[in-house]
Amino acid sequence: MRKNAQQVEEIEETEIPMEDGQSKQEDEEEMIEIKIPVKSMKKPLLEDLPGVGAATAQKLQEAGFNDMMSIAVSSPGEMVDAIGVTEAIGRKIITAARSALDMGFESGDDLLKKRERVIKIPTGSAAFDKLVGGGFETGSITECFGEFGSGKTQLGHMLAVNVQKLDPTAVAVYIDTENTFRPERIKQLAEAQGMDATKVLANIKVARAYNSDHQMLLVEKVEDLIQKQGNNVKLVVVDSLTAHFRAEFIGRGTLAERQQKLNKHMHTMLKLADTCNLCVYVTNQVMSKPDVFFGDPTQAIGGHIVAHASTFRIYMRKGKKGSRVAKLIDSPHLEEGEANFFVETGGLRDVKL
Ligand code: ATP
Ligand code: MG
Repeated sequence: MRKNAQQVEEIEETEIPMEDGQSKQEDEEEMIEIKIPVKSMKKPLLEDLPGVGAATAQKLQEAGFNDMMSIAVSSPGEMVDAIGVTEAIGRKIITAARSALDMGFESGDDLLKKRERVIKIPTGSAAFDKLVGGGFETGSITECFGEFGSGKTQLGHMLAVNVQKLDPTAVAVYIDTENTFRPERIKQLAEAQGMDATKVLANIKVARAYNSDHQMLLVEKVEDLIQKQGNNVKLVVVDSLTAHFRAEFIGRGTLAERQQKLNKHMHTMLKLADTCNLCVYVTNQVMSKPDVFFGDPTQAIGGHIVAHASTFRIYMRKGKKGSRVAKLIDSPHLEEGEANFFVETGGLRDVKL
């Protein structure tokens, strides 16, 4: 259902003045009802959306909604916050954006093509790479959980270097919540591979997150790094995903709120991974479960919310003679299994069995 240029203009002319307050709300909703989402041959503009004029388009952009896709995958509540419209109008704007984008079902062969865009960031250990099907994938969230010292942070550093080995223009974003990012460690890892450490460090954007809200905001800002500053971000590390949430929401009464926030955070990251074809790597701690007598008495923080949103889940633990063991717990298309490796000054190295 393509619209011709004349129809496009008609729709643009019936712009709704958003700034006039809520008194016209009912009229506005009726006016929007008769509008048809715009689909044209040219790239759709935000102003093509019903009720969105230049001023509103600017507000949308200021709130980080730079293109149709970002609006199409948002929620009506986010529209309310961003441009101060009612939820009903927010919903209509989103519906129009979705329609303009021709979203909906994709055929299997299109999805296969999308899968071909996926980049796999190697870990440095052949066994670990094999476990995860060649490396850490873009378009997904990979979560590593495990006890202290199991190598989660080391892996984050390694990926930030290796993504650049794969693509010298790639930028890694490192959101550090525990002050464990070490540029000198990056230097060691880069030099061990014969890479220019200064250049590698320049392409890692590090931000220290001081609390859970700050952490969530930083993730939201990654889109600006890509859209506004033109960075080719291919990796986002959040180390640790859950430490702030765990420290801030203590006691049973706060659990629901914590999970709600974590859920929103995970979905922002999923959206980012998918729309920008980048790899999200998050680390997670474990807590001991005193009521478990058989098997491993540890459990990842964040429960089902984190487990569900993560495409790949890896459990890391310390192995024999200073080695580390990574176990693939959950993956949509790979066998479960284990990999043994050492963390060394130059990077990850396989254990020769
Ligand atoms: P936490 O839950 O406390 O954040 P973690 O899983 O992030 O723990 P890491 O910090 O990744 O743990 O692992 C720390 C371990 O990595 C050290 O105990 C050490 O064995 C190894 N390690 C760190 N730096 C080096 C280095 N430069 N050379 C060799 N091994 C190192
Ligand atoms: Mg760590």
